[in-house]
Amino acid sequence: MAEKRWIAETLFDELGFRMTFAVERVLYETRTEHQHLVLFEHKHFGKVLMLDGATQVTTRDEFIYHEMMTHVPILAHGRAREVLIVGGGDCGIAEEVLKHTSIARLTQVEIDASVVEFSKQHFPEFTAPVLSDPRFDLVIDDGMNYVAETDRRFDVIIVDSTDPQGPGKVLFTREFYAACKRCMAPGGVMVTQNGVPFFQPDELIASLRHLRELFADAACYVAAIPTYVGGHMAMGWAADDPQLRHLPVQTIADRYAEAGRFPTGYWTPEVHKAAFALPRFIAEHVAAAGQ
Ligand code: SAM
Repeated sequence: MAEKRWIAETLFDELGFRMTFAVERVLYETRTEHQHLVLFEHKHFGKVLMLDGATQVTTRDEFIYHEMMTHVPILAHGRAREVLIVGGGDCGIAEEVLKHTSIARLTQVEIDASVVEFSKQHFPEFTAPVLSDPRFDLVIDDGMNYVAETDRRFDVIIVDSTDPQGPGKVLFTREFYAACKRCMAPGGVMVTQNGVPFFQPDELIASLRHLRELFADAACYVAAIPTYVGGHMAMGWAADDPQLRHLPVQTIADRYAEAGRFPTGYWTPEVHKAAFALPRFIAEHVAAAGQ
């Protein structure tokens, strides 16, 4: 029997650490205009998508990151109508956003059209409900250009980007965060994919330093995602109303009830609240960003 191919995540090569997957079948592999893309089947995680050697999404654990990047900012805001996703190619986040019937319009700005095209075939569980929803608006552009030029205003901005390498690098700059602030409606909230603090502390500290200069309240919350290896995943948080991060569980639960209590696999009102209680080493990174 032929030797199984193993595919390694190379994101942490500098640290001398690799997570490696035994591949059942490679479903798709190509170099797009912007990045290397490979999709393969894994016996435990199902379909696994990697861009430039970094795991983006797997069928088995996608719900954790997608729910926490969506329901936390939308239910904290409480009256969101206009939502912007920067990145989000596979449409997993968009699918969660559109579960909120109170959302009037969702705009997704993705730089790489081929990620969306290929997701139509390989992640229909995300793309089918999203692309058939009249509230959804897809823009193929660099997120930096879009937020710098748009005259629209958003209640919630979700930055579901790749890591700060290749096309994703600009999405971790002060210029990008300042342009996001410019197109945020009063009372708005922004959340960002901000890496795994145990392996990527500098990324979190740098982002929070920028966000602190631009917003009254900047912090992060965490979740544990098996294939974003390295322990807690940090999600950056920025808003001008510090209260939004300190809502009572009952308020969050009431808003969830109002939103129709759609099914979730990870997010609950209690988990929402607890996600902002940071382990000391991450809290120290957040504090370091203030110095
Ligand atoms: N959840 C994943 C993670 O945490 O690594 C990210 C998923 S999503 C596939 C990331 C998307 O960001 C990709 O489709 C990529 O093409 C897109 N992207 C990267 N840089 C971008 C940019 N400058 N503007 C817009 N989209 C960008």
